Amino acid sequence: MKTKRFLIFDLDDTLLDFKKGEHEGLTKIFRNHSPSHLAFDHWLTTFKQVNSEIWRQIESGGSAKALLDTRFSMTYQQFDVQTDGKQLEQEYRRYLDDNYYMIGGARELLEHLKEEGFSIIAGTNGKASTQRNRLKGTGLESLFDDVVISDEIGYAKPSKLFFDTLFKRNKEITAENALMIGDSLRSDIQGAANAGITSLWFNPHKLDNNTQIKPDFEAYTLKEISSLILSGELD
Ligand SMILES: [Mg+2]
Repeated sequence: MKTKRFLIFDLDDTLLDFKKGEHEGLTKIFRNHSPSHLAFDHWLTTFKQVNSEIWRQIESGGSAKALLDTRFSMTYQQFDVQTDGKQLEQEYRRYLDDNYYMIGGARELLEHLKEEGFSIIAGTNGKASTQRNRLKGTGLESLFDDVVISDEIGYAKPSKLFFDTLFKRNKEITAENALMIGDSLRSDIQGAANAGITSLWFNPHKLDNNTQIKPDFEAYTLKEISSLILSGELD
C-alpha cells in the first residue's frame, strides 16, 4: 500500500471544467443583454478586467455577494448600457450551476484510484449548492468518500482551518498519508503547505510559476497524476 492513500482533490479546473462552463455562461449573458453593435471579444476583455478587480477586492476582505452583484452592471457601464447587476449575476449563477463539463479523463482517474484502494476526498472552495449539484450532474459524486466545501464549513482554502475541518471529519487521515492535488498555487498548493501536507500541482497549461509558492510535485496531465500516485514516487 502506498503511503499517500488519502487523496484530496480540488474540483474546479482539476476534475470539473469550470472554465468551459464559465465561457458558455458569459456567452449567454452577452447574447441576452447586449445591444447589437457590441462585440463579444471586447465585452469579454472588459468583463475579465472588471472581474479580476472585483476578486482582488473580495480577497482583501470585501463582501463577496455585494461585489459580485456589480460585476456585470460595471462591465456594461463601460459601454454606456444600463443593466441590473444583481439580476444578471443571478442568471449567470444559474448557468454555472448547470455546468456539468469535466476535465477529460477525470472520471477514469477517480475510478482507477478508487479500485486501487485510495480514499478520495473533494476539497473545494465555492457555493455548496452549486458544487453538490455539479457532482450529482456529472455522476462523480459516488466516487468521493467525503466532499468538503468552503461554503458549508465556513473556511476556504488556503486557510489551515479548512484542512483542520477536513481532517476532523476523516479520522484516519494524517499529514503524512494525505496528498493535495489542485490547479491553483494560491489556494491548493499554499493550502497544503499551511496544513503541512504534500502537494501536487496540476498545471495543464504549463504555466510558469512566478510565485513564492513551491509545490512538491507537478503534473501536466491527469494521466501523469495517476502515474505519480501509483508509482509510489510521492512517498
Ligand atoms: Mg481549481
